[in-house]
Amino acid sequence: MTVSKSPEDFSQPPLDGPPSRSVGRVKVLFPLPLFKAYDYILPPGATAPVGAFVKAPFGPRAVFGVVWHGEPDEGVPAAKLKTIAEVMAAPPLSADLIDFIDWTARYTMFPAGSVLRMVMRSGDGLVVPASQTGYVLGSPPEPPIRMTPQRQAVLDAARAEPRAASALAAEAGVSDAVVRGLSNLGALTRVEIDPDPPFLEPDLARPGYDLSDDQQFAAEQIRRHIDDNKHTTTLIDGVTGSGKTEVYLEAVAAALARDPAAQVLILIPEIALTLPFLKRVAKRFGAEPSPWHSELTSAARRRTWRRVADGSARLVVGARSALFLPFQKLKLIIVDEEHDGAYKQGDGVIYHARDLAVARGARARFPVILASATPSLETVVNVDEGRYDAVGLTARFADAAMPDIALVDMRATPAGPGRWLSPPLVAAVNEGLSAGEQSLLFLNRRGYAPLTLCRRCGHKMTAPNSDTMLVEHRFENRLVCHHTGFSMPKPKACPACNAVDGLAPCGPGVERVAEEARERWPEARIAILSSDTVGARAMREILDAMHGGDIDILIATQVVAKGHHFPNLTFVGVVDADLGLSGGDLRAAERTYQLLSQVTGRAGREAKPGRALLQTYQTKAPVLAALVNGERDGFLAAEATSRRELGFPPYGRLAAIILRGPDERALQACAQAHRAAIPPADGIEVWGPAPAPIYRLRGEARIRFLVKARRNMDIQRFIKTWIGDVKVKAAIRRVVDIDPYSFL
Ligand code: ADP
Repeated sequence: MTVSKSPEDFSQPPLDGPPSRSVGRVKVLFPLPLFKAYDYILPPGATAPVGAFVKAPFGPRAVFGVVWHGEPDEGVPAAKLKTIAEVMAAPPLSADLIDFIDWTARYTMFPAGSVLRMVMRSGDGLVVPASQTGYVLGSPPEPPIRMTPQRQAVLDAARAEPRAASALAAEAGVSDAVVRGLSNLGALTRVEIDPDPPFLEPDLARPGYDLSDDQQFAAEQIRRHIDDNKHTTTLIDGVTGSGKTEVYLEAVAAALARDPAAQVLILIPEIALTLPFLKRVAKRFGAEPSPWHSELTSAARRRTWRRVADGSARLVVGARSALFLPFQKLKLIIVDEEHDGAYKQGDGVIYHARDLAVARGARARFPVILASATPSLETVVNVDEGRYDAVGLTARFADAAMPDIALVDMRATPAGPGRWLSPPLVAAVNEGLSAGEQSLLFLNRRGYAPLTLCRRCGHKMTAPNSDTMLVEHRFENRLVCHHTGFSMPKPKACPACNAVDGLAPCGPGVERVAEEARERWPEARIAILSSDTVGARAMREILDAMHGGDIDILIATQVVAKGHHFPNLTFVGVVDADLGLSGGDLRAAERTYQLLSQVTGRAGREAKPGRALLQTYQTKAPVLAALVNGERDGFLAAEATSRRELGFPPYGRLAAIILRGPDERALQACAQAHRAAIPPADGIEVWGPAPAPIYRLRGEARIRFLVKARRNMDIQRFIKTWIGDVKVKAAIRRVVDIDPYSFL
C-alpha cells in the first residue's frame, strides 16, 4: 500500500463565497458522535443557508443542529424525511468555520458531529434570552436629591451604557438597593437591556507603550504580515520578560484596524492567567476583551458565545476551546506560550490547539502568531525549514538581566534525613529574607507525598481497580488519585497486612516542602500554590499577595511557571529538577527544559537581579547543563538530531490507538484482531499491542498501539484502512490520538 498526500498540506481549497440558500431539502449535522449529516425537509416557505442553526426531530427528541453542505439525496421519497421544526435566528456559522470543522474531523479522525458539539457547547446561546431592566443616568431630579458617596459612585458608574442593577452596584461597591432608590427618585432611568450586552469595542487609537528598537523591529515585521492579508505563521521567539505580549498586541491592533469586521483570538494556556491578562489588554485597548474558559458562569459563556457569533466581540482571549467559538470573520490567531502542554486536549475530541490554530489560519488564509520563550521543537523545526517565520527578542525589557542558574549536587550537599531543601537552597532563601526579597520554591508535585507505603509489608496504596498511586493530601487528611479523581480518608491501618500506623509517606509534594519551610522559617509568610488551590479566586488571591509583596516564600507547582510577573521575586529554588526526566516520554527532556526555563524566568524580572538553584542527582544531564549555560539552541539541536535518527516528531508522525474495556480477555482478543489486520505499508510501523503504562484505570484495562509514519505520509488514511473493518464490541472503547503527547 502506498499512502501519500499528508493532511498537513492544506492545499485542498476551502469552501468559499457566500453559502448557497437551499429550499426544500437540506442536510443537517447534529452535535452528536455522528460522521455524517442527515437529510431533512424545510418547513414550507422557510429558507436556511448552509451554517444556519435549526431544531429538528432526531430520534425521540428535537435537537439543535446545523444546516450542512452537501447534496441531499433526491431519490428518497419526501414522505420518508422528517421536517425541520424551527430555523433559529442565531447568525449562521461562517463558511470557513464549517470548513474547519470538516478538516478537524478528518485530521483527528473524530466524527464531524463531535467537532460541531465543541462549537455548540454553549447551546443556550441559540435561544435569545428575555430582556432585563437596565439603568442609565437620567436628568438631574428636581428638587436635587441628597448626595452620598454611595449614590455618587452609582451615578458615576451609570454614565456609560445602561446596565443591570447588579452590575452597577458591583462597580460602585454598593448594594442593589442604592441603584433602585436612585431610580425611584428619578436620577436613574429604567430601560430594557439585552442580558448579554455587547462588549466594548477595543479603542485602536490608543497608543501602546513606546517600543524598544528590538520590539519595534519585531512588531513591524509582523504588521507587514497582517497587511499582506494572507496566511503566514510567525514565531515570536523571545526570552521571558522581553515584551512578546506588547509586540503581539501591536499585531492585534493592526488586524482589527485593517477591517472593521475582523475578529482576533488570543489563546492562552492557563485559566489562572486570564484575569490579569484581560486587565493588561484592557490597559492597552481601553476595553476588556471577551473571555472564554471553563470557569466562566453559564451566563458569561452565553454572552461571549452570542457576541462572537454576531461578530460584535472583536477580541477574544480564551483557553484552547475558544478555537471552536462561532467566529464570523476571524482574521488573526495568537497562540501565547505555544509550547505549552495544556494546548493538547485529551478528552472527547483529541486535538492540539496550536496545530489546529495554524491549520485554521492556513485554510481561511489569515496569519497566525506563536509566542514563546521556549518554543517547541516542532515549531523550531518549522522555522528552520522555512515553513514559519520568526522574529526574535533577545533581551529582557528595560535591561533586566536573565537569572543566574546553577545546579546543586544532592550527593555532595544532601538535604538530610526527612528533609528536602539542601544547604545551598536554604542559604539562598535566608539571603532573600534578610534582603526583604521573595523566594519561590518550585516542585511540580501536588499534595504531601506522592507515594504511601506500608513499612511492614511493602504494600503501596493505589486507587481501586487502577494502577495509579494515591497521593497523600495532608491538609485534608485524604489519599487522592490524580488520574481518576478517586479519594479516601487516610486509613490508620494498612489494608493489606492490617499493621496499625505502618503507612508512611514517601517523597515530597508541595505540602511537605511547605511543612519544612514553616519549620525552618517560622517568621516568614509562606503560601502554597497548586491546582489544588481551590477556585480561580483563591488562586488569584495568592498570586495578588505574591505580586504585592505579602508573601516571602511561595511554594508552587507548575501553575506558577507561566506568565506571572512578580517584581520582588529574586530567587527560584527547584526542589527536584530530575522529576520530569524519567518515564521514557519522547518529550521528557524538552518539557523539562521548557518548564524549568519558564519557572527560573520568574526571578529578577525587574531591577534586582535574579538567581536560581536546581537540586539534582543527575548533574551530567545535558538538559540541566543547557539550562545552566543558557544554551537553548544547542540543546534543541541535540534533541532534533536524536529525534531525526529515530524518526520521531517532528521528523516523523505518530498516532496512538488505545483500546480499553472491563473484560481483559475480550480486550486481548480485540487487540489481537487489530494486530492481525495491520496492512503492510512502506514507511509505516505499528508497535503493539502493549499494555499501557497505567494498565488499569477505573476498572478498565488499557492496551495501546503506536503508529509511526514518515513525515509525508497520510497517517489518518493508513489508520482508516487498518481499523475501519475491525469490529469492536460495545463494551470496548477505541480511541485514536493523532500526534499523541501522553503515552500513559
Ligand atoms: P513576555 O511576554 O516576553 O514575557 P511581557 O510582554 O510580559 O514579556 O513584558 C514584560 C514586562 O515588561 C511587562 O510588565 C511589560 O508591560 C513590560 N514592557 C515590555 N515592553 C515594554 C515597553 N516597550 N514599554 C514599557 N513596558 C514594557
